[in-house]
Amino acid sequence: MRVALIIPAAGRGERLGVGRPKAFVELAGDSLLGHALRNALASGVIDVVGIAHPRSIDQRDLYVDLMSRISAGQVSGRRRKPAEPVLTIGGATRRESVSAVLAALPGEVDAAVLVHDAARCLAPPDVFTAVAAALAAGADAVVPALPVADTIKEVSGDVVTRTLDRASLRAVQTPQGFGKDVLVRAHAEVAGDVSDDAGMVEQLGLKVHVVPGHPEAFKITHPIDRMLAEAVLAERAGRVR
Ligand code: C5P
Repeated sequence: MRVALIIPAAGRGERLGVGRPKAFVELAGDSLLGHALRNALASGVIDVVGIAHPRSIDQRDLYVDLMSRISAGQVSGRRRKPAEPVLTIGGATRRESVSAVLAALPGEVDAAVLVHDAARCLAPPDVFTAVAAALAAGADAVVPALPVADTIKEVSGDVVTRTLDRASLRAVQTPQGFGKDVLVRAHAEVAGDVSDDAGMVEQLGLKVHVVPGHPEAFKITHPIDRMLAEAVLAERAGRVR
């Protein structure tokens, strides 16, 4: 099974408050995108990479940077020579950014697609492996997920309308995996904006399977998430020394 990785990295990152696109913010000497790519490629299951980037990022510079990472051996040992990364300018929403890369991928050969937010840059390689394994076992769609720690309530304005049963809730992460045909169909047939790709596949009436997520696959959105990410990276560096 040949696997394509799509990284939507075209968000503005306004909630992080650093004045530059979030995926290109530095964390312990590398960008969020760089960390995300390294963790994904270390899984050994990725054959080709497609990235949606902001218009403000120089595509030529990004291409050279990515090619050097890919050539340095951060890709699956199954391939003989590194596939060139596919770069596209992202859209106004995450969904549009994923669609743009999906349309630009060198199609027919990829059986499966993993979609991974640059913002979840510390998601460990094992999560990619688990999602790819579930796809190889025949799933149409796979999401990594964790039980929720908080009690979740529905509200209307400032009034609670319902308390959800926490035992049946999961917080969903990325990478999310799909048969390529399934993801193409979801993007073609499901209208409106959605916050994840699996939500579109659900609307097609297909089953979305769940594999265990990882606490370090949290999304960097607010300044406190960046502090947590720096702590995780410091702890990982200590483990390696
Ligand atoms: O904003 P949020 O953190 O939810 O975005 C999730 C991911 O989608 C991020 O990696 C971000 O760069 C990406 N994104 C994108 N294009 C957009 C908006 C978000 O690629 N227009």
